[in-house]
Amino acid sequence: MELTDEDRAALRERYRAERDKRLRPDGNEQYVEPTGRFAHLLEDPHTERVERPPVHDEVTVAVIGGGFAGLVTGARLKEVGVTDVRIVEGGGDVGGVWYWNRYPGAMCDTAAMVYLPLLEETGYLPTQKYVAAPEILDHARRIARHYDLYDGALLSTKVTELRWDPAISRWRLRTDRGDELRARFVTMGTGPLHRPKLPGIPGLEEFAGPCFHTSRWDYSVTGGGPSGAPMTGLAGQRVGIIGTGATAVQCVPHLARDAGELFVFQRTPSSIDVRANRPLDPAALDLYQGWQQEWLRNFATLQTGGFTDVDLVQDGWTDIAQRIRDRVVAAIDAGEEFTPATVQRAFEDSDDEKMTEIRARVDDVVADPATADALKPWYRQLCKRPCFHDEYLQAFNRPTCHLVDTDGRGVERIAADGVWAAGRHHRIDVLVIASGFEVGTEYSRRSGYETVGLDGVTLGARWADGMCTLHGMHVHGFPNLFVIGMAQAGNLISNFTHNLTEAAATAAAVIAHAEVTGATEVEATAEAEQRWVELVSENASAFLGNAECTPGYYNNEGRPLGPRERRNLSGFPGGAVAYFDHIERWRSSGDFVGLDFR
Ligand code: NDP
Repeated sequence: MELTDEDRAALRERYRAERDKRLRPDGNEQYVEPTGRFAHLLEDPHTERVERPPVHDEVTVAVIGGGFAGLVTGARLKEVGVTDVRIVEGGGDVGGVWYWNRYPGAMCDTAAMVYLPLLEETGYLPTQKYVAAPEILDHARRIARHYDLYDGALLSTKVTELRWDPAISRWRLRTDRGDELRARFVTMGTGPLHRPKLPGIPGLEEFAGPCFHTSRWDYSVTGGGPSGAPMTGLAGQRVGIIGTGATAVQCVPHLARDAGELFVFQRTPSSIDVRANRPLDPAALDLYQGWQQEWLRNFATLQTGGFTDVDLVQDGWTDIAQRIRDRVVAAIDAGEEFTPATVQRAFEDSDDEKMTEIRARVDDVVADPATADALKPWYRQLCKRPCFHDEYLQAFNRPTCHLVDTDGRGVERIAADGVWAAGRHHRIDVLVIASGFEVGTEYSRRSGYETVGLDGVTLGARWADGMCTLHGMHVHGFPNLFVIGMAQAGNLISNFTHNLTEAAATAAAVIAHAEVTGATEVEATAEAEQRWVELVSENASAFLGNAECTPGYYNNEGRPLGPRERRNLSGFPGGAVAYFDHIERWRSSGDFVGLDFR
């Protein structure tokens, strides 16, 4: 569908107006930490805490966090012969976000063949193109079993302090169980989305009925279970849900099915593209040795605008990227020069086309025209986490499912018996909060402990003006410490675990090298770290941090990016695939340029 210049100008104007409506002076500060009535949100509802004697010993590698970051790091360490690895994890089992998030309908809409790590190594094939949370949690457990990572693991154990002891060249870890561990090396995979945040809506504490955050779903209230069994506890109940992000999009169809009445309080609609999930037929797949690496590369390449002969995953992520790429090619074929302006134009045209389709889909699916209108997203697709779902929009056709659109203003206040929004009181019996996680706040607040390096400097202080690393992993002044994430590295949003498997391979290679050469300490040099920060700072992600976007956690809630945010959002120039190539060469060269082994 071709848009005229007038259509485009009108779109830009609408996008700007919708964004401006939502800009607020308090930015990230609109959210609050769970305290008081909500303090339990930081606790574990899934596993009973069993008392145990404190542990006082030493390990080669302590792995903080038993989510996919910790699991793939543990796996890669075992593969290179480092056997003395101990996971320390706050939850009662491994799995990270998939341990905590058990809300009905939870699933990952990055294709399982690329999202689930170590499929070949563990001999597992996903059942569907996109798999549900219980299958993902099972896979996390499979990795832990396959690599014996449960051995010695300290589960239901929160790290309270991590301190470098230069006298013995060891990290000292303290935990909330009274453990005092020494570790030669520490890896930290504490994830960007693990600490729930609450909207600072006046009166939230006063709500009299059951109220919980989606990441701590209370099945004792709702009945049912994570596999989608009917939530009989909601029969006849008036249920409210605040938030319409990727989480709400997945649980709303279940709530709409089971609640007496459902009220969905919306500030900004998500973009809902087709998901088209289907069972995977292993027989139809050509799975030669090394297939997953090939699939990962293929997906990352297409998703970041590169060329491949085939599209192995074929989903909404690769679709938009290929539209952009094909437009650039067409422009060049037509004689245009390859310039940033060509790419920008291709990006804008593809996005306009895609978002026009997404809005048209709302009209096709949602019967009531006013509801359909309110569900249309007016921003670029990558301003917020794109959603893919085939039952969310449909849920609003149920007479018992009500959209309460607040035209960008959000819920006004909460009373003991309900929610005030769009100027009206809505009586509510059960309130679900789908307001997301702390992303932009200070590192130690999110990780829940302080890391103290050389000369008593804390990581929080060191990163007060933003992350400073070599490869997103090594921090000068913090020897033998490895951050496992994606920032200042590949920054591949569409497949988070791909960043993790690469980081894990790098950490394992460095630790193995230290072991082989008898080095007791390894640390990024100040110069190497500085060069890297300068390099990646030129490349704050094109859409992360985009001030033209509607506010959200991708762009610091629409507030101007300071140097801190810029650094935290930066990634390797040239993108994820270029970074993965770079780091693969770096770690296999054996030189480890930028690290000081001593
Ligand atoms: P988000 O931060 O994406 O969404 C929070 C929601 O709460 C937004 O809709 C926000 O509105 C809304 N909100 C906040 N304050 C108010 C208020 N006062 N009144 C009304 N609404 C309010 O959190 P999610 O848990 O949905 O998702 C977090 C991330 O988790 C995703 O971005 C994704 O990375 C990941 N995820 C991935 C999934 C997948 O693979 N499919 C599924 C689930 C999560 P507004 O938009 O206006 O700020």
